Amino acid sequence: MTSLTAIKGIGEKNAVLYSKIGIDTVEDCVFYFPRDYVKYERLCGPDELTTDRLLAFEAVVVKRPLVRRVKRLSITTVMLSASSTAVSATWFNMPYLSKSLKSGSSYVFYGRLETEGDHFHIRQPRIFTKEQYEQACARINPVYHLTKGLTNNAVSKTVKRSFEYLGDSVRHELYDMHFPKDEETLLHARNSLVYEEFLHFILRLRLLRSEGEVALNDFNIIEVAQCNRIIEKLPFRLTGAQLRVWDEVKEDLCSDRSMRRLIQGDVGSGKTIIATLAAVMCAMNSYQCAIMAPTEILADQHYQSVTNILKESGIDLKVALLTGSMSETSKKNVREMARSGEVSILIGTHALFQEKVIYKNLALVITDEQHRFGVGQRSALTSKNASDNCHVLVMSATPIPRSLALILYGDLDISVIDELPAHKKPIKNAVVNESYRATAYRFIEKEVKAGHQVYVICPLIEESAGMDARNVTDMYSELRSVFEDSVKIGMLHGRMKAADKQKVMDDFSNNYINILISTTVVEVGVNVPNATVMMIENADRFGLAALHQLRGRIGRGQNQSYCIFMSASDNEKTMKRLEILKENNDGFKIADEDLKLRGPGDVFGFAQSGEMDFLLADIYSDAELLKKAAADADRILRDDPSLSKSSNSELKRAVNNYGRIHRVDETL
Ligand code: ADP
Ligand code: MG
Repeated sequence: MTSLTAIKGIGEKNAVLYSKIGIDTVEDCVFYFPRDYVKYERLCGPDELTTDRLLAFEAVVVKRPLVRRVKRLSITTVMLSASSTAVSATWFNMPYLSKSLKSGSSYVFYGRLETEGDHFHIRQPRIFTKEQYEQACARINPVYHLTKGLTNNAVSKTVKRSFEYLGDSVRHELYDMHFPKDEETLLHARNSLVYEEFLHFILRLRLLRSEGEVALNDFNIIEVAQCNRIIEKLPFRLTGAQLRVWDEVKEDLCSDRSMRRLIQGDVGSGKTIIATLAAVMCAMNSYQCAIMAPTEILADQHYQSVTNILKESGIDLKVALLTGSMSETSKKNVREMARSGEVSILIGTHALFQEKVIYKNLALVITDEQHRFGVGQRSALTSKNASDNCHVLVMSATPIPRSLALILYGDLDISVIDELPAHKKPIKNAVVNESYRATAYRFIEKEVKAGHQVYVICPLIEESAGMDARNVTDMYSELRSVFEDSVKIGMLHGRMKAADKQKVMDDFSNNYINILISTTVVEVGVNVPNATVMMIENADRFGLAALHQLRGRIGRGQNQSYCIFMSASDNEKTMKRLEILKENNDGFKIADEDLKLRGPGDVFGFAQSGEMDFLLADIYSDAELLKKAAADADRILRDDPSLSKSSNSELKRAVNNYGRIHRVDETL
């Protein structure tokens, strides 16, 4: 591994920025795959300007740019003239543009026009010189996840230099992922890398399983009356599916064969209560249980929920919360209680496992929202506990079609909660375009006036040059100006400090915030029953499964809920996919349909469903490659069950390294 500073132009200061996006070494750089690609169309003539699509036009800067400050925001406005057509352009937080855009000079601007009064307006257009644009037109251009201070150009240049630095030792597929000659080359490179990723993943799983084959335990766990008491005291009756799954879990817990079970259940199907019951059963038998959640928000919510359930049924068990953002003292305190056995149910984030918690007698590990965990963490979890022979229960809200689940979760028994609580009103859905925006805002206002709450989901945190998608920061300013001051608006995204995120989520839970603008960090498990509207911006940028997950944040209470899928895309296939969501509220059905509609061959806008944290692969669009890899893995292992033949040594090394590289969790 070579430090990134070996690359020309990367100093210590720059290296810090790259580190933020997960690049520490030159080798990391070649694996920093583009999040998307753009192919620029030829320049538009002045009479071809339209608001229908992304386009590039040449225009002269008429007057020196103007920089205004609005609260913490700086807005740069420039008047442009494309032949004689007037276009005003604005950029947020890029004050330096006022120096670099010279009045009287001509540039190429790339973005989406809007009409504003009698002239065109454009937000955050990307700026090129004419020569730059012509060069860009000739290529397929990579678009990277960025962070403040790094431009797409800069990252692209650094990646290129990394390849130069590493020379011939790097496979050409990796280079082709960043700088493909044409679409065919890109597709070919991607498919071979995806296949390989699947193959290594499956081999890794199979090897792990054969190592820990049928873990036995000598816990002595029996059924307890307290679980029945909890079920009786619930404000609702468990569904048939919940009862069936609870029976399966109970049986596992009483067995001397350690549980390795996955509970699959759509959002809102009521998995938490099953987890709680399992934890209580364990704890009443004087063993400890750990519940792990992917985010602090969710961990905290589980903590509240478990505590409440115990209180309601008058059961006295010590429950503790352990998350990364707690003070060192509190963490130490909780760890001490885990070691001494004082705490029975420990709930937390990854910190629970990363920070070496020692338990007195841990018997059960529950992992919520399994699909968000990387394979690396997943195998760490199973192998760690294989030695302890702990029972392992994982819960996933991702309804994966059975054919794929058997491959992806081949190491687990699967229980399915395939029934939603009866009281739930189906969500009403709308797939709309920009022309509906004003109506949507009025609708949101009406719901807020009725005392309900609203989520607005954007793909990006802040503006990102050249990316035609809404971002949380600008959306916040926009909604601030659209709604009266009495409407409280909050912001949430993955780059906020944990404590700040927590505060915002708490405020939203307590209804101090009416409209929450967020990235997909609210995706998992969050439960605010009073939220009745979700508006998802650039819905076409997300996979169907991810959209369905997001939508699961609403429709959790008594009131009718509404989901508005905004999409500027007029691509027929995209619209067809979104229509599936409109027609269906059943996650399994959606997953099946998604599988049918998505196929290989979509080079632009690979919408990752976000399942299982693959670097490149998407289990839906790459389902065929997944099946092929599974068949090949079986064949390889039949011939060489532990990959110990010398002809497989290279493969074995790759398999053991699997999961070391992770993609950035959230869209920046
Ligand atoms: P998920 O499966 O998405 O984790 P939760 O466990 O968070 O779902 O449950 C969603 C909501 O439904 C919670 O408010 C929970 O109390 C409620 N709930 C769970 N089971 C039932 C049921 N059988 N009948 C009615 N409401 C239920
Ligand atoms: Mg949940």
